[in-house]
Amino acid sequence: MLKIGLTGGIGSGKSTAADIFSSLGVTIIDADLIAHQLTLSGNECFSKIIHEFGNSFITSDGELDRKKMAETVFSDLSKKSALENILHPIVRQRILHEIALTPDSPYIVLSIPLLFESNFTDLVDRIIVIDADDDIRIRRTSQRDGRSEAQIQRIMDNQVDRQTRLEQANDILENNGELEDLRASIYNLHKKYLNMTS
Ligand code: ADP
Repeated sequence: MLKIGLTGGIGSGKSTAADIFSSLGVTIIDADLIAHQLTLSGNECFSKIIHEFGNSFITSDGELDRKKMAETVFSDLSKKSALENILHPIVRQRILHEIALTPDSPYIVLSIPLLFESNFTDLVDRIIVIDADDDIRIRRTSQRDGRSEAQIQRIMDNQVDRQTRLEQANDILENNGELEDLRASIYNLHKKYLNMTS
C-alpha cells in the first residue's frame, strides 16, 4: 500500500485537499486529529504535558489550555522542544498503528502538517505539498478562524519555509485558484496513484 504524505503551511488547503481525497474513497490518516485526541483530558499525552508544564495549563473546564500552550511554545524554543518530545513519539506510534489498521487499498493519504518539522518523512513513500501564495493563505486562514494577520504570520514563521517544502515534494498542488481547480488537480493525482499501484 502506497503511503502518500500530504503537507503544506497553515491555510494552504491541507484539510480541504484531504476531504477531496476522502470523497474519492481514499483513507485519510490525520496527524493533527491524532495529536488533538491524544491531548484531550485523560488521554495519553495530557497528563505528561501537565506534568511538564504545570496545572496553570489546564482550563476551568479541565482541558488543555491550547491558546496558552501555543503562545508559550511560539515564544520559547525550549518549551517547544519539550512539547514535541512528549507528542511526537506517541503521534508517530499512533500513525503506525492506524496504518496497520487500514483495510488494504491502493494508497492512503497521511495528512501531516509538520511532516518536515517533525521528521516524519520516513513514514511515507511520496510527498504532496499543497501550496498557495502567502497573502491568500493569510486571508483564507483569518476568514476560517478569525486569527489576526500577525498571529498567522507568527505561525508561518515557525513552519519550514515554502522553498524547503517545495524542494522535497514529489507532487505539488497549487491552490491559488478556485476549489474546482483544486478538485481537478486532485482527481489527476488520484488517477496517477492508481496507475502507479495497478
Ligand atoms: P489548512 O488545513 O492547510 O490549514 P484549509 O484546508 O483549512 O487549510 O483551508 C483554509 C481555508 O481556506 C478553509 O476555510 C478552506 O475552506 C479555504 N479554502 C481552501 N482552498 C480554497 C480554495 N481553492 N478556494 C477558496 N477557499 C479555499
